[in-house]
Amino acid sequence: MAKKVNLGSTKRFGPRYGRRNKDKIASLENEHRGRSKCPYCNYVKVRRLSRGIWQCEKCNAKFAGRAYTFTSPKKSSPVLMKSDANSKKDDFEKELMEIEEETKKEIAETEQETVETEEKVIEKEEIHNELAKEPKTEVA
Ligand SMILES: [Zn+2]
Repeated sequence: MAKKVNLGSTKRFGPRYGRRNKDKIASLENEHRGRSKCPYCNYVKVRRLSRGIWQCEKCNAKFAGRAYTFTSPKKSSPVLMKSDANSKKDDFEKELMEIEEETKKEIAETEQETVETEEKVIEKEEIHNELAKEPKTEVA
């Protein structure tokens, strides 16, 4: 039986260009169209944005790799780009923490206010009810 070859993306070439060339292209294209393991969060979520630029869909880290493959066999870790998530991430997390604390304070304050207003509303309703009951009892 003939050996089964996984043509994958090179099916588009049909019978042209020969098996060897198509095998090479298939292996390259499999690598840069698929997902790779992220060096920061370890999820298999790294996609190629364009030649040499890779981004993790999970943690949004963007880094420079090779044009068609994620990492070279010699260089194990990809080079971080200046606009990388990690440097920004810390600032971002700090900002988030600050915003969270502020919102917590605001929520606590508004809760107190709403409790006060609710009490007032209940008091008003009670007064209303009493006022509404009085004429009815007189009529009855
Ligand atoms: Zn990641």
